[in-house]
Amino acid sequence: MAKIAVIGSSSIDLVVSADKRPQAGETVLGNSFETVPGGKGANQAVAAARLGADVTMIGRVGDDDFGEIILENLKTNGVNTKYMEPVTHTRSGTAHITLAEGDNSIVVVKGANDHTTPEYVKKAESVIREADVVLVQLEIPMETVEFAAELCDKLGVPLLLNPAPARPVSRELIAKASFITPNEHEFKLLFDGEDRSEVLKRYPNKLIITEGKEGARFFDGEKEWLVPGISVPVVDTTGAGDTFNAAFAVQIAGGKSVYEALEFANHAAALSVTKFGAQGGMPTAEEVKRSRE
Ligand code: ATP
Repeated sequence: MAKIAVIGSSSIDLVVSADKRPQAGETVLGNSFETVPGGKGANQAVAAARLGADVTMIGRVGDDDFGEIILENLKTNGVNTKYMEPVTHTRSGTAHITLAEGDNSIVVVKGANDHTTPEYVKKAESVIREADVVLVQLEIPMETVEFAAELCDKLGVPLLLNPAPARPVSRELIAKASFITPNEHEFKLLFDGEDRSEVLKRYPNKLIITEGKEGARFFDGEKEWLVPGISVPVVDTTGAGDTFNAAFAVQIAGGKSVYEALEFANHAAALSVTKFGAQGGMPTAEEVKRSRE
């Protein structure tokens, strides 16, 4: 069984849908309200667990009701939450999402996620040491991401850095990661203005650029490949990137080549966009297998 450790964020998304977005000082009536578990770390942990990996998540929740809901959801999906301890007198991370006029506007409050410190990650060193692949994203403090990369480098554990949401990242951090998976927008921010093929050549079998329904691009040391995406009826693309990263990591942990892992990740992510919600459509390994027959 592939062992995966995810160092990252968790949150509850508070989603309201309305016909019209309120202006400053205005009150409008909404149509519906939902709470959905999210956060890139938790999403990737759930996706990897559904795909059959042995997953431990390392992060923090608040000591509020949302924290309990986040932990319950992770456990229900089979994720080990030993290193997801609540922070006292602190709220869990939340995302306040308004869906109106065909678009969304979001306020993110990081809350307990900011307490995912290097010291806390250090406490989980034994889990990281045992992992086949460690996954990290950019919704926790940058010093923690950098510490995680150093620790993985020291322990010789492969680190997959998903540089999302888009934030600048140091060259040292990129150097320490075994894989880095920006989408096109994040790629432009990281390698500002540089020629895509040149950058891909600099990071063979390491830099993977995701291109939405087109699939994912990488350079294998000899040739640049666009591993084609899978055409599906789209319901909700939220969480496609999270499913993709988790699926890729599980395959690499299982000894697959980068090309094979990307084929599988494209299939898993395509399945995820056919259902509502970030975690709603995340498939099991069996579902991915069936979709490929
Ligand atoms: P998101 O933020 O929507 O979760 P992202 O912006 O991080 O995703 P994308 O490049 O949009 O990243 O998508 C990641 C992967 O998900 C793609 O490489 C592809 O495999 C799959 N994917 C995304 N959108 C679609 C789609 N419409 N149809 C099929 N596959 C898709």
